[in-house]
Amino acid sequence: GANGRAAAARLCSGAAGSSLLRHLLFKLRASGPLTVAEYMREALTNPAQGYYTRRGGIGESGDFVTSPELSQVFGELIGIWYISEWIAAGKPKAFQLVELGPGRGSLTDDILRVFKQLASLLSKCDISIHLVEVSPRLSEIQAQMLTGGKVQSSPRDDTVYMKGISKTGIPISWYRDIQDVPQGYSFYLAHEFFDALPIHKFQRTEKGWREVLVDEDPEVPDQLRFVLAPSSTPAMQNFIQPEETREHVEVCPEAGVLIQRLAHRLEKDGGAALIADYGHDGTKTDTFRGFRNHKPHDVLKAPGMADLTADVDFSYLRKMTQGRTATLGPIKQREFLKNMGIDLRLQVLLQNSRDTATQEQLRHSYDMLMNPKKMGDCFNFFALLPHHRLTHPDQKDDLQPRAPLVPVAGFSELSLK
Ligand code: SAH
Repeated sequence: GANGRAAAARLCSGAAGSSLLRHLLFKLRASGPLTVAEYMREALTNPAQGYYTRRGGIGESGDFVTSPELSQVFGELIGIWYISEWIAAGKPKAFQLVELGPGRGSLTDDILRVFKQLASLLSKCDISIHLVEVSPRLSEIQAQMLTGGKVQSSPRDDTVYMKGISKTGIPISWYRDIQDVPQGYSFYLAHEFFDALPIHKFQRTEKGWREVLVDEDPEVPDQLRFVLAPSSTPAMQNFIQPEETREHVEVCPEAGVLIQRLAHRLEKDGGAALIADYGHDGTKTDTFRGFRNHKPHDVLKAPGMADLTADVDFSYLRKMTQGRTATLGPIKQREFLKNMGIDLRLQVLLQNSRDTATQEQLRHSYDMLMNPKKMGDCFNFFALLPHHRLTHPDQKDDLQPRAPLVPVAGFSELSLK
């Protein structure tokens, strides 16, 4: 009966949580301490027991809430950003929208609504959606949100593991890795994605830099603790700059590799990438933290049951483009959204809504997104653009007057001309 099912579910989730811990303890005992990156990768995306793979509690009933879950306006303004870049690029005949880590799919859903509203402008443009998602659980939720559940799954070894058509008639494909997404003119989007990629941690000591590792606590059975590597590790040599002044540094090599790939693609095929996340410009130290049921959570407790995250180092991302693209930002979320016209959008929505409950909800979510003490200041927007988008190519013999470059929306005030 129902009681039996509930009890079984509780038993299962209890056993699953501890079985990832058990798996990690087994690994530690066999081959020594793990790097924080290995630990974070297992805790978040272990195929059987990772937090995102089996839980992924985004939204009010989950472990954390994100901007697209709070307000439709967030995604709408991002949709307008892409349209504005598409126009600035001379309205290419086709584009791909590629989202990394789409969560529940709300952001792409809001963007697709904007595309639909601007259908006459986009009518001759061939648009396709490409979602990069490792979690089977979240990809199902995305499919439900975007297509109403009408999707076809492919065999497990296929690079495109699912396909469908959006409610607005646009083809959607799902991948596990960005390298499987077809090349071509593309708009990339990563919201609260980079902060989920595994970081290495390093501590300055009297004997020089040491990597922070995760080991078993000898005092408490089945408990983990941080230790320092006894000597320098290979990762360290590559990641600590000689001029580094901080005492503690976090580095996310996977983010570096991903940015290199994005920069390569943008240089070759054109488009734009928009990255939004909390982060800093190479100044912060210890930002590794966990969330469970909207409360801070000890990162070493119950791996797989809590969201783990670290601030994104935008200075590192900028460096890893290796000059292949131009970069803009990071700028604060409240500045970006203000430049994109959030105030006007709020006024329109307030005027169009009759009941006070809806108006109250609109004002509340605006405050969450914009208030410097809430999400307004700690979230940042960062963009990669082909060089020619921001500077004229050097043509010394060109006697024609050059057309002025159109400013990039969001990073300066949006011009509605
Ligand atoms: N962008 C969404 C969700 C953020 S949570 C929002 O703002 O609401 C992070 C998302 O990235 C989840 O969908 C998670 O399953 C996915 N993810 C985490 N690590 C990943 C990886 N290595 N490759 C692909 N997707 C990943």
